[in-house]
Amino acid sequence: MASVAHIPVPRSNTTIPVPTGLFINNQFVPSLDALEPIKVYNPATEEVLCEVTSAGEKDVNRAVAAARTAFKTTWGKNVTGFERSRLLNKLADLMERDQQSLAELECLNNGKPVKVARDFDIGDSVACLRYYAGWADKILGQTIEVDRKTKVAITHPEPIGVCGQIIPWNYPIQMWAWKVAPALAVGCTIVMKPSEITPLTALKLSELVVEAGFPPGVVNTIPSLGSVGGAAISSHPDIDKVAFTGSTITGRRIMEAAAKSNLKKVSLELGGKSPHIVFESADLEQAANWAALGILYNTGQDCTAGSRLYVQDTIYEKFLSLLAVKAKELVIGDGFDEQTGGGPVVSKGQYDRVWGYIESGKKEGARLLIGGEKRSTPGFYVDATIFADVRPDMKIVKEEIFGPVLSVGKFSTEEEVIALANDTTYGLAAGLHSNDAGQCMRVSQALDAGTIWVNQYNMLNNNVPFGGKKQSGIGRELGSQALDEYISTKAVHWNYGEKLEWPL
Ligand code: NAD
Repeated sequence: MASVAHIPVPRSNTTIPVPTGLFINNQFVPSLDALEPIKVYNPATEEVLCEVTSAGEKDVNRAVAAARTAFKTTWGKNVTGFERSRLLNKLADLMERDQQSLAELECLNNGKPVKVARDFDIGDSVACLRYYAGWADKILGQTIEVDRKTKVAITHPEPIGVCGQIIPWNYPIQMWAWKVAPALAVGCTIVMKPSEITPLTALKLSELVVEAGFPPGVVNTIPSLGSVGGAAISSHPDIDKVAFTGSTITGRRIMEAAAKSNLKKVSLELGGKSPHIVFESADLEQAANWAALGILYNTGQDCTAGSRLYVQDTIYEKFLSLLAVKAKELVIGDGFDEQTGGGPVVSKGQYDRVWGYIESGKKEGARLLIGGEKRSTPGFYVDATIFADVRPDMKIVKEEIFGPVLSVGKFSTEEEVIALANDTTYGLAAGLHSNDAGQCMRVSQALDAGTIWVNQYNMLNNNVPFGGKKQSGIGRELGSQALDEYISTKAVHWNYGEKLEWPL
């Protein structure tokens, strides 16, 4: 089934053509495994958009072989940094050219509003490709003096090889860009497995890979179930590195499979239960805006979602009232309306999971401030839901929900809130609001997370590293640090003068 689905665009007479085969060696091809195709849904309507080919183990082998051949012949050490830079910039230009139709497709498959997909996800992804295009011809080794008269050592930062990249459904385009850009910048080749829930934009982007002029086999895209294609990538003996974003439980499986197969390098960007703290000196109006954004952006389906809010007791009720107003202001609904700020959650599975947590919050006795009621119309919508007066032992406080569900607790001292904030197995992100500079510095030092936001939340930049501590992950994405994840450093020790006296 290497065909094209024509997806109708709401409010217009047009369709978006999406290739539905596997993308291997710059061609869309049918599967060798003939598995059941993957049904792809529109979460706003609950209707099937199309079916795409599902890769099996033979397909993974074929994609890996294509990536290996490209690595040895046209890419890897056979292409200059200037050329990698040129191609990445070209890809960025094409993504920018197609931003509207890509945003529409992202909205149809993921649920996020067109405006958000276009102006944030795609805008940032274009910038990400350009950022790493800038790095591609600046990947430098070192000359290390060993003994000035006789010896020198030279390091060569070599591309690590064939990379498996397994990405989730919450940011299908952006996660694609975060993974693909640094890998291509250093000269790696890629077997990309998008989420089975949101494979459409990765397939569409594969067309742009060809148009940009990348040689065959440099990027391969194989939609597949995690337990099939994802597992085959993680345990593949000819994949040199696997980069993953998704749940902690899957990250653990990938690491186990990597260890048991060929000890491939692994980088993991996993879940979180990030604390967000409001001290009494903060600009409360601003803090409420950031707190609302922290939990409602992308309908809470965000690994960095500020899902545990701690508010100082002296401003607690006042802040809750402000936050409730702010949270209700966000329009959640039709993604094709430019006024809409939030969409449905991505799938039936996610919808049921989020509602399970809301029921648990009610049962465990948290005070429901807003939300918590289902809509009667179609679509996997969950309105902003805020629970106040939570206790640390509640399920909604301990577990990642991945929906627009916020738990708010009260604290009185800085020491108390630091202890509450760090009381988690996760360590992805944290935020704090205060007008006391000393407090901002003290608390940001004490919080145990890879990213700390002070007087803001959820803002990432392509030139700043991002990643987790504790069970939120291993390795860093973005910034120059992401390049290191795709590099294997070779050291050449050169003797130009020492004579070896033998025997010793
Ligand atoms: P998941 O971790 O199962 O899926 C993420 C990716 O991993 C997908 O591409 C999936 O196909 C793949 N995968 C699944 N099983 C695999 C395996 N055994 N080997 C290799 N790859 C595999 O996440 P999910 O089931 O879609 O969502 C469950 C929960 O995970 C969410 O509710 C949320 O809490 C969390 N999540 C976190 C992120 C994040 O950005 N940190 C993203 C998505 C989901």
